[in-house]
Amino acid sequence: MELLKQRIRDEGIVLNNRVLKVDGFLNHQIDPHLFKAIGKEIADRYRDAGVQRIVTIEASGIALALMAALELDVPLVFARKKKSILMVDEVYHSVVYSYTKEENYEITISKKFLPAGEKVLIIDDFLASGEAAMGLAKLVQEAGDEVVGMAIAIEKSFQPGRERLENAGFRVESLVRIKEFKDNGCVFLED
Ligand code: 5GP
Repeated sequence: MELLKQRIRDEGIVLNNRVLKVDGFLNHQIDPHLFKAIGKEIADRYRDAGVQRIVTIEASGIALALMAALELDVPLVFARKKKSILMVDEVYHSVVYSYTKEENYEITISKKFLPAGEKVLIIDDFLASGEAAMGLAKLVQEAGDEVVGMAIAIEKSFQPGRERLENAGFRVESLVRIKEFKDNGCVFLED
């Protein structure tokens, strides 16, 4: 997606050759026009997949997923990272290792917002090791739903996430794929 690539070229900051900071338009300040275009692009890629619900993870996934949910006209539910005040038997839960914070955390979704028998699209902002996406897929499958695919805004293709998700049988659509970090910038896969 050229628009997103251009913003990364213009404003992305590579930290320690490991993490891409895009706080100016995605992770802190949000550009609504860019997000509208991202939502449309995700929806276009999954328009024929019969998506009935979108699942993402707080916080940065929510705005992206909301735009796609509007386009596909389906409900959106986000997994919470904080301990829920609900009883354990009222939520689906999974443990995820955080790439950026380097610690485990628990994600939960209330059972009443994941009815069984639906086709679900998983959305996240970044794909690195695939931990977050796998954790979300586990919740969705535990609910008796089908994961029809995953949509990621920015994939770091030099990390094992895509391979891990594809090996688990999931369709992965990334709007931008980064081949490597070089000279504090990004080299994109199609370049
Ligand atoms: P994974 O679970 O695939 O290892 O990492 C994905 C999650 O970690 C995303 O939800 C995202 O929040 C965070 N993440 C991973 N790599 C990056 C990165 O380079 N930049 C930013 N801003 N977040 C990242």
